Amino acid sequence: MHTLDIDTVEMTLDVMKFAINRITVRDPELGIPKKEEDLKQLVGETVTAKGIGGEQAFRLFRDVLVKATVPIDHPRHLAFVPAAPTRAAIMFDLVTSASSIHGAYWMEGAGGIFCENRAMDWLVSLTGMPEGAFGVFTSGGTAANLSAMVTAREVWREGGGTQHGKGIIVASIGAHSSIKAMAKVIDADIRLVDTEDRMSGEALEKAIAALSDAERERLFGVVATGGTTNAGIVDDLQGIARVCRDRGLWFHVDAAYGGGALAADSVRHLFRGIEQADSVTIDPHKWLFTPYDCGAIIYRDPEQARRVHSQEGSYLDIFKDEGAHGFNPADYQIQLTRRLRGLPLWFSLATHGTDRYKEAVEEGIRLAVRAGELIGEYPDLELVRAPSLSCVLFRRKGWNPDDYNQWTYRNHRAGISLVTPTKWRGTGGMETVLRFCFINPDTTEEDIRIILDTLGDQEIT
Ligand SMILES: *Cc1c(COP(=O)(O)O)cnc(C)c1O
Repeated sequence: MHTLDIDTVEMTLDVMKFAINRITVRDPELGIPKKEEDLKQLVGETVTAKGIGGEQAFRLFRDVLVKATVPIDHPRHLAFVPAAPTRAAIMFDLVTSASSIHGAYWMEGAGGIFCENRAMDWLVSLTGMPEGAFGVFTSGGTAANLSAMVTAREVWREGGGTQHGKGIIVASIGAHSSIKAMAKVIDADIRLVDTEDRMSGEALEKAIAALSDAERERLFGVVATGGTTNAGIVDDLQGIARVCRDRGLWFHVDAAYGGGALAADSVRHLFRGIEQADSVTIDPHKWLFTPYDCGAIIYRDPEQARRVHSQEGSYLDIFKDEGAHGFNPADYQIQLTRRLRGLPLWFSLATHGTDRYKEAVEEGIRLAVRAGELIGEYPDLELVRAPSLSCVLFRRKGWNPDDYNQWTYRNHRAGISLVTPTKWRGTGGMETVLRFCFINPDTTEEDIRIILDTLGDQEIT
């Protein structure tokens, strides 16, 4: 039996102490990035022939390096899509690492994959997809979207699609950048319906009608967004589903950010039609309170994905043998060796129950509505559009893009908040505006006021 030497014990205690402290504070210091050469100057060489020792390496991380990072779960971090992992999920992320479970095949990961699958049952139930629909956890929304797009393209090819050349996917300009990036990966063309607002079935139909006959032969899939990252807009999923069904197109819903809102009764109706999707992306590391990185891809017919993604190899055959019978996550997405990244979500769901998830998501939506009301109280501020899901777009009257940038930097440097500007194309053309995205249920109205108070006149210097 091997025992831990004293250095390892000390290092372990340091790590556990740090982790416990970190998940105990409500608002960790809002760190700020530094230049790489400055960090190098501060910490010196860390990877050396003899090593610097765990205690010293940990001290450098705790006292210097982590301060050059931004805690995404800070209650006044409202930029991008924030995160707010539960304590249960974070602690179980440590357990997931310590357990060293290989998550590709049932043969090695059965007990852990079993847990992931229970969390997946819940995700699938949120979508309302029919019996037989199922999915796997991925490294994030990008990998989930890619896994779905490859499946869609291969299904099209099986049907003889390739004789017409390179495939085409239709999405809207509100679709996430990863859709466009992954279209490049699979060498498909992408056509964007010209709206940042809700893409309707009619607009999609019109865009398809505008394609040439040759292009329509190449069209194999449509990506609708279930909560745009910029504004929280849910496309007309029912209308889009109808067009896809009529034209025999793959219907993918990218709900990486918005998927958590499927749990919220107050907005669930916006997602009607998602149950007809061929595939759905949901990122638990966004609005389902899971640590990075955890995405999910769900398929109406997982068998289609298995035919496409299952890898062959002489040393892999054993995993598919008798006795190893079970669900192999590697068969349904692009990755082979994988961490059991659904485990922290499972543990947290098992700990808290799904009702708590509902409440926590509703709180994000409530905060967005409340922020909209508060913005109305400030004469210099104005909503750009009504809050949608947990996103709020608003303008500071009289500010130009640089004013917004300077305000962002100022508030970040002062440790007040991280809120970043974005662009919105309204009737008056493209405009720089401010954006809140609420995820963290610990954010309060007071937090919102603290931020809005910094947008007054006196702040422009
Ligand atoms: C964040 C996001 C993605 C990308 O997900 P990652 O987890 O960052 O890879 C894709 N689509 C939408 C709608 C998103 O909000």
